[in-house]
Parts: sequence; structure tokens; C-alpha cells
Amino acid sequence: MNRIVAGGLCSLFLAGSFLAFRSASQRDNGTKNPASLTVHADHILSKIKNHLTCEWADETVDTYKSGSGDTEVTGIATTFLATFDVIKRAEQAGLNMIITHEPTYYNHFDASEFFEGDDVFEEKRTFLEEHDMVVLRFHDHWHRTSPDGIQVGMVNRLGWKTYQSEDHPMVFKMPSQTVEELAKALRDKFQTSAISVVGDPNMEVSEIGFSMGAPGSQAQIRMLRRDDVEALIIGETHQWETVEYVRDAVSQGKTKALILLGHANSEEAGMEYCAEWLKTFIDEVPVQFVEAGDPLWAPE
Ligand SMILES: [Zn+2]
Repeated sequence: MNRIVAGGLCSLFLAGSFLAFRSASQRDNGTKNPASLTVHADHILSKIKNHLTCEWADETVDTYKSGSGDTEVTGIATTFLATFDVIKRAEQAGLNMIITHEPTYYNHFDASEFFEGDDVFEEKRTFLEEHDMVVLRFHDHWHRTSPDGIQVGMVNRLGWKTYQSEDHPMVFKMPSQTVEELAKALRDKFQTSAISVVGDPNMEVSEIGFSMGAPGSQAQIRMLRRDDVEALIIGETHQWETVEYVRDAVSQGKTKALILLGHANSEEAGMEYCAEWLKTFIDEVPVQFVEAGDPLWAPE
């Protein structure tokens, strides 16, 4: 895996409101040291590094995807994914640093070669540049720090802390319910119609596993192999892998079911928690969670 750094996109364009903020700061500070009131993206990143329990890795996708460490930060938006809609709402709120869990440009490494000249890609890149925005991905280290930040946010969102197994933080011992009741409860909690289920809707389950995001079919199947997982809730998967594994398990009479919650639903609360975490040590600029939401819907 190569480390890919997509930086160097810093634009000279500054939003009017930011210019006003800066000149006011310079006035307040006289002319002695106006730079002292300026917060750069690298300052935020170094504070993040200091508050993680893990070392910052040399090979990581957690790099700048727009702007650079020198970009001056007016405010921070944490989000599951820096969608076009999220970056526009962040910009309107005066938050020019986006801390995103998932990629900005439609592939894990945010590689741009394939997208050069693509209308969708170019409109997004141009918007970020013209508004002097900096996008930092925060994926690997938010999972690696202890406890996993996405996990903390998701367990809070589910309200399942009291059900947490001592053997695995994402296995829950719950009162017995049918697979259909569990799926409906998730539909209501996440307010989405786009949940899919594999297995018998009337099967009673009380041992529930939760696999966030898209860790790959082997990680999901490892969870399904556990004796203490009857139903596994996942973000997303290749349907011809994990989905078909569960279809066969069900055909063989095994007590297994799979609920596909959607990638965004399965992780987004972890980035809401990220904003709360950042606020415990960043007070130089405002920090706010900006919801990306679930992109999927299904006809009722
Ligand atoms: Zn994740």
C-alpha cells in the first residue's frame, strides 16, 4: 500500500468573511504578531496526534485531500463523508476545515488520475479550492485509537452500552426478539427505509453482532462464525460474498441472519462523537458535526 498525499491544492482565494475576520484580528493584536492568532490545519492535526492513544502511521489514508497543512482554519466540520452537500453547508457555516471519515473522491486512496476532467470530480475540487477549504481524512487513526472512536459513537447512538458483551465490544446480549423486530427497530432508529435483511424474519435472536463500515467479507464472516452472534448487522458488503454466505448458512438450518444497514448509518455517529472529542482540546476555532446522512432510499 503506497502512501498517497493529495496536497498542494491550496488556493489564494479567500472568502470575504474570512478577510474581515483576519483584519479584525490584526487590529486587535496591533501589528506585532498577527500570525499568533492564525490557526493552521497542521496545528489542528498535531493536536489530534497528541490526543490519540496510537502512533501516527507513515502509511495511512489520513492525509490532506484538499488544501494543505498551511491552510488557515476558520472552523472545523466533522463528517462521515465530505459530500458536495456537506462541504457547501460547512462553508456556509464558516467552517473551512472538513475532517472526514471516508474518502472525498470515490476511492479509498482518493486517487485522482481516473477522475481528471470528470464533471462531478472537477466541480467538487474547484469548489474546495475556490473557498480555501482544507479536507483532512480521519479514518485509520480514529479506528486505531483506544477506544475506537467510531465504535464509541455507534454504541452511544444504538443505546446498547448495557448489552455490550465482555468478550467483544461489538457483540450485544439483548432481550430476545425476531429478526424482523430487530430490523424494524433499526429502521426507526436510523430513519431509513433502505435496510436489507437475509434470513428468516420470524427467527428469535438475542445475540447481535455489529460490524461497522466495509471491513471486507472475511472480517464479517469471522463475526458470523462466532457462537455468540446469531444476527450480524453490517454497513456494506459485496453481495456475492457475505450475503451468499448467510444465505447458505440459513439453508443449512443454522441460526444466522444478516442485516445490511448501509455504510453511512453504520459509522456516522462515530464522527458526531469525533466533534465532541475534538472540543475537549480545541478551543481556537468552532467545531461542529455536519451530517452527511444516508444516500440510499427504497420505495415504501
Ligand atoms: Zn470506518
